[in-house]
Amino acid sequence: ALPALGVDVGGTKVAGGVVAPDGTVLATARRSTPTATVGETETAIAAVVEELAAAHGGELAAVGVGAAGWFDRTGDVVLFSPHLAWRHSSLRRDLAARLRRPLWVGNDADAAAWAEYRFGAARGADLALCVTLGTGIGGGIVAGGRLQRGAHGVAGEWGHMRVVPDGRLCPCGNRGCWEQYASGSALATTAREVATRSPAAAARLLDRVDGDPTRLTGEDVARAAADGDPVALALVTDVGEWLGQGIADLTAVLDPDVVVIGGGVSVLGEMVLRPARERLDRVLPGRGFRPGPEVVAATLGAQAGLVGAADLARATVCAQETGG
Ligand code: BGC
Ligand code: ZN
Repeated sequence: ALPALGVDVGGTKVAGGVVAPDGTVLATARRSTPTATVGETETAIAAVVEELAAAHGGELAAVGVGAAGWFDRTGDVVLFSPHLAWRHSSLRRDLAARLRRPLWVGNDADAAAWAEYRFGAARGADLALCVTLGTGIGGGIVAGGRLQRGAHGVAGEWGHMRVVPDGRLCPCGNRGCWEQYASGSALATTAREVATRSPAAAARLLDRVDGDPTRLTGEDVARAAADGDPVALALVTDVGEWLGQGIADLTAVLDPDVVVIGGGVSVLGEMVLRPARERLDRVLPGRGFRPGPEVVAATLGAQAGLVGAADLARATVCAQETGG
């Protein structure tokens, strides 16, 4: 079997990879995501694909694009995207015309969930949920060996569960969404608040951005936490606790075997997962009397999305070839 090309289109970056049939990533390429117009975003996707295809040289089975958007049931149209410009946009048609290769398109977190089920932490699970922590919070559900997309294609959008009544404004238009408290952007938002309010306490964070709190990103906080800055560590712990709270709610509804945490923030590993598990144990409805899910980091880390997109593309093309 041939390698396939997978692309993960998030609110911050477009990350692509050439992926072997066993899920191994053979080469990668990335650029930042232009978010202003659909055309610019799609040009960046095409550029990553062409760059990787040229670097690879050989034949490719297919191209898969997992994008931070809400796809309709056909999988061809992006109905809506909180962080990007797609509104009822025919992403498949646009990309097919540009790329002229066998193509799969779908949600980025669905692709990550699929990758973890096929090759990672959710292998063998009857019901696996994936929560990706990036610019937003993405979600994917694999049940009975299949990706579950809901009646209209948009299942698993739990980044937009309301966790704080009248809380922070979300780019989806609502207030208090989970992703405003437990994503990479949440880390940045809270860090900016703290650094503005208490510049002395946040001195080590401010050193990273020449004293300008508005320039703090989630990655700055993550790096500072990894270096042992106690303020940054507290911010990361807070995100972990919000994560655990949301997982408790998901567990009350769906009772999964495993919840896999992926996306950029998941590279912090136990720094986020420990507080998440602790909070989950404290607030899970029926705690002490019922089993809960395992909460684990994505085996494929931040590459889960691109690996899953490549695998779904290969599977789709094989099914078409065999008439299945
Ligand atoms: C979007 C999801 C996407 C996630 C991660 C969320 O805001 O609603 O569709 O998967 O961000 O990029
Ligand atoms: Zn929202």
